[in-house]
Amino acid sequence: MKIICIGRNYPQHAEELGNDKPESPVVFIKPDTAKLQKRLPFYIPPFSNQIQHEVEVLVKINRIGKCIEEKFAHKYYQEIGLGIDFTARDLQKHLKQNGLPWEKAKAFDGSALIGNWFTKDHFTDLNQLDFELKKNGAVIQEGNTSEMLWSIESLIAEVSRFFTLKIGDVIFTGTPAGVGPVYPNDILEGSLEGEKAFKVKIK
Ligand code: ZN
Repeated sequence: MKIICIGRNYPQHAEELGNDKPESPVVFIKPDTAKLQKRLPFYIPPFSNQIQHEVEVLVKINRIGKCIEEKFAHKYYQEIGLGIDFTARDLQKHLKQNGLPWEKAKAFDGSALIGNWFTKDHFTDLNQLDFELKKNGAVIQEGNTSEMLWSIESLIAEVSRFFTLKIGDVIFTGTPAGVGPVYPNDILEGSLEGEKAFKVKIK
């Protein structure tokens, strides 16, 4: 499986990193080795002094497709989740400044936390999903999918123009404002529409 990530899909987050609003979604890929194994802690990698959390709504692809039309995109997923795109922000800044690809900062082992899955029928409106991230019990990041520049279905249409989507692929739909650092012994907990999606310890 592959993990397809969207950048700058929430205008306030693009602003907080000093990025312009993009004309089309920013897309990057994490390999399957980026997936954080269930129930394991997240280990801060030795090559970064500034790991940040990005909490994001996830979509699991359940049907193979290429060049999917937006009006048919709903047929390509059944489950929605919540996860974290862990980012080595110091390394990413360095790579961006030098015009280099982001993989070292974004696609390293364990950088993709994928929480529990919920069937999409469980929710009344996928374009109005509330989600939040707590750190040590306090809410530090929250968002609603209504703030996304590109909806889930427009993202499926857009990314499938470039990459064949396969069963089990996961799309990270981008992070809202409020990204910040994590430190050893932090506990991160995510919830989607009030349902517990994940809990992870930082080491
Ligand atoms: Zn992200």
